[in-house]
Amino acid sequence: MFCKIELIPKKYIDEESTKELVWGFLVSLHSNGQILKDYKFTKEKNYTLYVTLPKQDSLDEKYDSKYVKRNRANLYDAYETVLTPLGRNMEIADYCTCKSRSAMEMVTYTRDIDSVFVCLDCGKSVALYELPLPADKEEDYWIVNSWQDNYSSMDILWMNSLFDRYTGNQRVKHDSVLNKSGIKIAEYMSEKLGYPIYYHLECDYGNSVKAEQVGDKQIHICPKCGKLMKRLDITDNDSIDVCAECRLSYDAH
Ligand SMILES: [Zn+2]
Ligand SMILES: [Zn+2]
Repeated sequence: MFCKIELIPKKYIDEESTKELVWGFLVSLHSNGQILKDYKFTKEKNYTLYVTLPKQDSLDEKYDSKYVKRNRANLYDAYETVLTPLGRNMEIADYCTCKSRSAMEMVTYTRDIDSVFVCLDCGKSVALYELPLPADKEEDYWIVNSWQDNYSSMDILWMNSLFDRYTGNQRVKHDSVLNKSGIKIAEYMSEKLGYPIYYHLECDYGNSVKAEQVGDKQIHICPKCGKLMKRLDITDNDSIDVCAECRLSYDAH
């Protein structure tokens, strides 16, 4: 849902202080997954924010992190807010509404702004704030967003730097620094949830990643344990290969 939030001043407040209040609010909402990364802050008749909500009720205070709570209180002290839904943002994914889930995949790609977690029961993205926090002592999901930024940056570097070996390996090898940092998050959250989160790996088919012919399908070999992976059909036209033991996944080919 793409929305406009107009700020109506309750008292005089200068532009610099307003900027500080607004950026604090927007950044903390994004870090908590309540808005996606495409937010904008404009000055029209009044100051106006444009935000994409993953789900209709994402701005509900019950989802607020301690940072959103604090920034929301500071902003609302100076401004009243009027929210107007503008329509569906066609650039974003559909979000999961399953009552319970049995597994998720952690996956992203270049310039992706959606949640990195995909429900494997319905194939839709999962709003971050619905999930357990991603590490000890974290109060929101900024480490998930920062992993996503790093992944996207690595992908862009790889494509723009003549497919060099370093950036290629960071995306493909399960034990690269980039992938290890993502797997650590997936493992931590999976333990809290009590169901698997498969960490998605890029495939450099034929170079280091192997597959085996099974019937009419090419199924990947797990790069960590060396065993044949299992084909999982998420939707009619979306399938992945997973290793239940190592919690790794590839796109099905
Ligand atoms: Zn779902
Ligand atoms: Zn394995």
